[in-house]
Amino acid sequence: MPEKALFLDRDGVINQRLRGDYVRHPDEFIFEKNALQALRLLAQIFSPIVVVTNQAGIGKGRMTHADVRAVHEKMLAEIGRAGGRIDAVYYCPHRPEDGCSCRKPAPGMAYEAQRAFPRIAFAAAWMVGDSYSDMLMGDALGMRTALIAGKEEDATLLENFPVTGRFSSLWDFARYCEANMPQDKPA
Ligand SMILES: [Zn+2]
Repeated sequence: MPEKALFLDRDGVINQRLRGDYVRHPDEFIFEKNALQALRLLAQIFSPIVVVTNQAGIGKGRMTHADVRAVHEKMLAEIGRAGGRIDAVYYCPHRPEDGCSCRKPAPGMAYEAQRAFPRIAFAAAWMVGDSYSDMLMGDALGMRTALIAGKEEDATLLENFPVTGRFSSLWDFARYCEANMPQDKPA
């Protein structure tokens, strides 16, 4: 298995973000264009593949842990059916003002993943996200950072941020990886 870890943000990377709202129900979870094909490709290059997502809607009382887990069950089932792989999903349920250690850009979820997968080396890992908080977390941990375009709110903050690469979509990133990184040979 490859030893390179991949950290993925969820909303705006794997699935379409809901402007001004949380994805609270599996029916509201719509994959981004070609995201399933991208995950299938990335599964041949990275391990583990870990989702790290801020879900403050829980702390705000807009949805429950069960709601988020139902969304993730659908996500994982569809990714698996398409030949992809997500090895773990971590989410932060807290509000920004709670001051927790897991809401990105805090590194708590990345460290939790490293406890579960001790082979994770941040220096060899990539963080893929569409938010300033994703890039800050990845950069602070010494990861390579891939910014997925689309989050207008963060555009100014990210304009001059030294990301490793800028991509139009997860599919765009996956194609870059396919061209530039060693893959597992098919068995
Ligand atoms: Zn948290």
